[in-house]
Amino acid sequence: MDRIVYDIAVIGLGPAGSTFARLVDSRKLRVAAFDKKDDTEESFRKPCGGLLSPDAQKLCARFSLTLPSDVLVTPQIFSVQTIDLGSKMIRDYQRFYINMDRHAFDKWLKSLIPDTVEIHDGTVCTAVTKNGDLYEIDVTENGSHERYLAKHIVAADGANSVVRRNLFPKHRIKTYMSVQQWFRDEHAKPFYSCIFDRELTDCYAWGLSKNGFFIFGGAFPVKNARERFESMKTKLEDYGFLLENPVKTEACMVLSPTHPWQLFPGKDKCFFLGEAAGFISPSSLEGISHSFESAYRLSELFNVKDDVTASDYRKATLMMRLKLFLKIIKRPFIMNPLLRRIIMKLGICSIRKIDGDDVFSRDSRQAGNRN
Ligand SMILES: Cc1cc2nc3c(=O)[nH]c(=O)nc-3n(C[C@H](O)[C@H](O)[C@H](O)COP(=O)(O)OP(=O)(O)OC[C@H]3O[C@@H](n4cnc5c(N)ncnc54)[C@H](O)[C@@H]3O)c2cc1C
Repeated sequence: MDRIVYDIAVIGLGPAGSTFARLVDSRKLRVAAFDKKDDTEESFRKPCGGLLSPDAQKLCARFSLTLPSDVLVTPQIFSVQTIDLGSKMIRDYQRFYINMDRHAFDKWLKSLIPDTVEIHDGTVCTAVTKNGDLYEIDVTENGSHERYLAKHIVAADGANSVVRRNLFPKHRIKTYMSVQQWFRDEHAKPFYSCIFDRELTDCYAWGLSKNGFFIFGGAFPVKNARERFESMKTKLEDYGFLLENPVKTEACMVLSPTHPWQLFPGKDKCFFLGEAAGFISPSSLEGISHSFESAYRLSELFNVKDDVTASDYRKATLMMRLKLFLKIIKRPFIMNPLLRRIIMKLGICSIRKIDGDDVFSRDSRQAGNRN
């Protein structure tokens, strides 16, 4: 029996895969997309802080995308409280993120894909192999095993990419284990916090109010990640964090490239987008903007060229990779406890909070002085 050969098979419909599937000319090219998410409550949900950075917002502007209100959460927060547990220093810095429901964001991006793309929802890609000029994609779909054929693979399946593990098993990218828990938010005021503690991780942790919940998560060395996470929770009790009775615990790999050669755009007719390629900021772990940009660059190539090669894509992502390279260079400075403490001590770029509590304590101090 003749089997359909797709021009492109997209594996994964997160921000990278959905953007590529939306922008590639699927009237000209036969495109199939496979994603393990579906519309059920039990569906896979990407563990994420769900903050849309200014760079990602700029790309939304370039794509003429406006965010629907059901993707937004309450509250929107304009500053981050940075805590250095080693020195016990705390500083506030202005931030310009949009606080979102990450799952709603993913579903919305997916809803923008045109009907000309054949979408296979709730479908897990189990293996990808190269056979001559074609790629064979094995999936579990509706409980049964299926095989699809494609001339090109677009791997947008995130940090733990099955495509990368199958086709390029020797390629390694520095990986952390990200553990995140959700709590009913019982803090007096919603807030966003970044926490550094060299004893527990050379990356960082975060806490964030979102729709009545407080998310606390962190990226830890894979070994003993869960124990490190629990130790950090205990340390944060002294800082007023209320982290008891989690309602949900999630964990996943998160990449943080430490060398430019860990970034992996692809080879032959296999192209990597977003986090599957290691396109994520190694310092902030912000990844959505890089997923958008890599997806856009690759779709442009397919839309104008008949024969797209990995070398074309490497050239098209050169500027993006250079920017990531600069972030890789910057990372040891940002993560260096001594430098961070000097910057925090000097108050460089920090803001001074003037809220009701401050005014109250200042007034009572003044009142005390008068007496
Ligand atoms: C805890 C945490 C917090 C983060 N917070 C932020 C943040 O606030 N802001 C930010 O910009 N970045 C954040 N990041 C990074 C960001 O989540 C990623 O960089 C971004 O999601 C990458 O997008 P992507 O489309 O490349 O991959 P993903 O978002 O990982 O999407 C991959 C998709 O592939 C699908 N998939 C995976 N495997 C298979 C398979 N075998 N078969 C079928 N489908 C598959 C999944 O359904 C998924 O939707 C965070 C990361 C973590 C881990």
